[in-house]
Amino acid sequence: MHDLVREYVLKYLGGSGAEVPLEALDDSAVINDIVFKSDSHAVKPLFFPGGDMGRLAVAGTVNDIAVLGAEPFALSSALILEEGLSMADLDRILKSIAETCEEAGVHVITGDTKVVEKGALGGCVINTSGIGRRNDALEKNIAEVRRHRSFDARWILDSNLRDGDRVIISGTVGDHGLAVLSAQEGYDFGSQVVSDVTPLNKLIMRLLDVGGIVAMKDPTRGGLSNALNEFSEKSGVGILVEEAKIPIRGDVKAACEMLGIDPLDVGNEGKVLIGVVPQKAEEVLALLRETKEGKDAQLIGKATKQFDEVALETVVGGKRILTPPIGDPVPRIC
Ligand code: MG
Repeated sequence: MHDLVREYVLKYLGGSGAEVPLEALDDSAVINDIVFKSDSHAVKPLFFPGGDMGRLAVAGTVNDIAVLGAEPFALSSALILEEGLSMADLDRILKSIAETCEEAGVHVITGDTKVVEKGALGGCVINTSGIGRRNDALEKNIAEVRRHRSFDARWILDSNLRDGDRVIISGTVGDHGLAVLSAQEGYDFGSQVVSDVTPLNKLIMRLLDVGGIVAMKDPTRGGLSNALNEFSEKSGVGILVEEAKIPIRGDVKAACEMLGIDPLDVGNEGKVLIGVVPQKAEEVLALLRETKEGKDAQLIGKATKQFDEVALETVVGGKRILTPPIGDPVPRIC
């Protein structure tokens, strides 16, 4: 997918001159101070432990806007429904979209509905686009960063990490992918693994109000491994991560071992990876831990100019390079 985007999509559609353009491959784009994101959701099945297609379709787009430091304020929702989707399921999905919008404080203000013949969709596909704007919390955050180091960015970007910045993950990784996999395959992992799918925009505004945040990313497809590598590659710094600090639920770890997949490669839908100046790291971590979404947050590593890659300091004391996953360990989780 990564190569497909780079070699084909960018070849024809790059070159807009937007402030944060398509070719930045960040979570959202920015043009005329509007943060803009479009995201298609094709999760299978439509309902899974801890969430459903509707909640995912709102949270995914809201979170991609919020991680640039913007306040999302309007969404579009385009539904592609397969013949045979029951009205009861459609009702559940729309109700979930409405409830998640209310939770996030956004509205769907435009959209489209198409019905297609029965085939490969697995019920329905939803495209959600959204827009976000600058806000006082973002300005305050940037002012706080500039008290500690030079910072010329106007948004919170993957490319803003510098030597010495700390890296925080807001909670346990792998929950969403494993929850969807259990629903896809009917696996019983002994205890209920539940998706973390949730809109994070209100939490992120509170974190920006504390200040000192330079980079954020929601570790969705490709998981924590991919998000860390995107920070590292786009910022041109290495990241040293302490493996023992990465929060992973015991049942998720056990299920991943059984299936031969790395929980760091598995997608999340309610977590945020944060790069923060060292002087504010403890304060950001403390606020996260006071919240429901961030109670398991950990400071997992720091940016370094001593090497270029993402290196894991393993539990046994060695180091290994953490590369982004080559394929999707769990398909159709978002
Ligand atoms: Mg994202």
